[in-house]
Amino acid sequence: MARRFHIRTYGCQMNVHDSQKLTSLLLHAGLEEGPDDETADVLVINTCSIREKAENRLYSDLGELRAWKQARPGRVIGVGGCVAQQEGDTVLRRFGHLDFVFGTHNLRLVPALVAAAEGGERSARTEESRSLERFDLPRRHPDAGSDTPGRAFVTVMEGCDMFCSFCIVPTTRGREISRPAAGILEEARALVEAGVTELTLLGQTVNAYGRHDVRRGRTAAAGTLPFAELLRELDRIPGLRRLRYTSPHPIFFDDELVRAHGELEHLCPHVHLPAQSGSDRVLERMRRRYTAAQLIERAAALRRARPDLVLTTDLIVGHPGESDADFEATLRLVREVGFVDAYSFKYSPRPGTAAAEAAPDERVEPALAQERLERLQALQRDQTLAYHRSRVGQKTTLHLEGESRRPGQVRGRDPQHRVVNVADAPGRLQAGEYLEVEIVEATPHSLIGALIGATPGGVRPDRLDRTLQILPAS
Ligand code: SF4
Repeated sequence: MARRFHIRTYGCQMNVHDSQKLTSLLLHAGLEEGPDDETADVLVINTCSIREKAENRLYSDLGELRAWKQARPGRVIGVGGCVAQQEGDTVLRRFGHLDFVFGTHNLRLVPALVAAAEGGERSARTEESRSLERFDLPRRHPDAGSDTPGRAFVTVMEGCDMFCSFCIVPTTRGREISRPAAGILEEARALVEAGVTELTLLGQTVNAYGRHDVRRGRTAAAGTLPFAELLRELDRIPGLRRLRYTSPHPIFFDDELVRAHGELEHLCPHVHLPAQSGSDRVLERMRRRYTAAQLIERAAALRRARPDLVLTTDLIVGHPGESDADFEATLRLVREVGFVDAYSFKYSPRPGTAAAEAAPDERVEPALAQERLERLQALQRDQTLAYHRSRVGQKTTLHLEGESRRPGQVRGRDPQHRVVNVADAPGRLQAGEYLEVEIVEATPHSLIGALIGATPGGVRPDRLDRTLQILPAS
């Protein structure tokens, strides 16, 4: 019987997608995917180090996994992702039962690391590479599936050259590198051919795609394109219904990209525009390279190009040096742009970043940062609900994801990426189908829709991974 693996994934969509690539690689290597740790012979933890909590979680997971490993001879544990990239050998030395560590540039090596571990070898492969080889992966294994049928991620670039004061990504993911467009288009076409109708392009600063080649006049040699042109090429793929990208950086919204939002049929009316702060003083300290006024102007330009566009954002409160006035500027920005949703966090220092070196008297007291976070989140909740209420009575299409948390209901996303729950869905539906609904109710977290019709167009049901069983309402 084939050995079974299981992957635990922490962190961002990039990590989720890395785990999908890893799944495909291990299936190609002849292993089988298991549903949980218990049935697994090989356990891989794909880590994240954006916040301290995630790093601590890895160490506590590894401590607990001693017993897991001892429970069956021959079990293997590997750790990858951002913490692994940063800590490398150190994690291997600290946890004697850990078999291998792999960095963010070394996914391709994992099948070989598993084989070496099964032969009793412990190793860490965290070397960085500028090579395009990392994009050179075998086609997605037919058994790899996806978390949400009908949807897939496609990596277009990796790494980041921005070095924001609070962020460890340029260290853990390395410098920016853009994948040649031919490989992206080939992967996208193959996914659509296999039944995918919604693609999300991924990159740490996704809209920086190809920028260094454009600046140096070497796009032809590198095989890249300006980002907006890449979107235009992808938009033409027959059968594709939705195109998204994440996470962009505000300074790379050039006029071409803004125009693309008004012109491309399948590009969704949602942009995640990470503002981080609304204070020019803090933005400068964060090394974000834009002002609040510039961000407001780009947001307005996007809305002019596509009036139904929804903007969401990331915000940090309590960055070193943030005063009450700076925080008030963030609240003003949130109101002025009218963000529909926000991921907001208290600043936490990451060793190796510029902000972590701030003088003690510049640090914001945790209680004050907490108070600011709560005020910011209360404002955002009101804005989200107001937007949701404005949608009541509108018709929309949702891409079905699965069962809702509410019994008897199904859940999907509309083009604006809002969650829509549907109460009167028919008994059997397939995740990946499209439903026409009318929004009948707004809640702070989601919309409630009433079914108008199901439109499976573009989805090949034989390629969908699972059928939803709708539970009767209790
Ligand atoms: S742009 Fe800034 S926040 Fe985003 S990944 Fe790069 S360094 Fe981190």
